[in-house]
Amino acid sequence: MTNLGYTSGSYYNKVDSLNTWLISYASADEAYSIFVVNDAHDADSSFSDGKFAYAYRGGPFMVLTYGVDNYGIEWMDPNVAHETGHIFWSWDEYASSSCTCSQSYNGAYNQNCENGCLDHVSCIMRGGVDPYVRNSICDCTKGQIGWGSGICGSQGTGCVAGTCCNPVNGLPKPPYSVCGYSTEYTCMAGAPKGKCGDDVYQRQVIRQCSGMGLDCTGAATYGGYTLHQACSSKQTCSAVTHSCKKSSICSK
Ligand SMILES: [Zn+2]
Repeated sequence: MTNLGYTSGSYYNKVDSLNTWLISYASADEAYSIFVVNDAHDADSSFSDGKFAYAYRGGPFMVLTYGVDNYGIEWMDPNVAHETGHIFWSWDEYASSSCTCSQSYNGAYNQNCENGCLDHVSCIMRGGVDPYVRNSICDCTKGQIGWGSGICGSQGTGCVAGTCCNPVNGLPKPPYSVCGYSTEYTCMAGAPKGKCGDDVYQRQVIRQCSGMGLDCTGAATYGGYTLHQACSSKQTCSAVTHSCKKSSICSK
């Protein structure tokens, strides 16, 4: 900051002065700064205390390492979104932050804090990538940043059952979590009824959660086909019963 010409006060004051200049330069109402630390020679992309991103509540700046811990640069967005929440005065909600239900700002209490509060829903201030992917910002956080009524505490306690429910945190499991397997059958030439002598093949279907719902109804991935039953030239293949059947048409 000194090299940029901001020489007086603490580093905090210096960044504040930079932001003041930025407000006038951009004709903006407010400004904050983001510092991205070069961690090219730091295997864990974290500071010596294990932290990798922080912000001052209400500004004037946030600091992140380039690799943002083990997230990787491709996941800087969710981390910047979370820290931007702090810039706009919102509180952390993940348990290890030692958040409490009585923390408040702008009339909105921190009732989605994981430490025994009323709400239990997905939210960017709970940290991690998953809430960002879902565009989740809870009513408590919304209230704290001045968006919405600030009334929270009745958003629900999250899911308790369902193949794709994580009952530990009450949230749907992340997208692509494996939730089931099944087997699919086919005749390799002309399903469901093959020609004489066609064989029955099978492949594994790996079912996944959608990330939004609680049922196992997301995208599926498939294994390769393997032989399930070899049919003779007097038989036809049935994918429906996944077996070979004697057929009069094959004797001709
Ligand atoms: Zn935070």
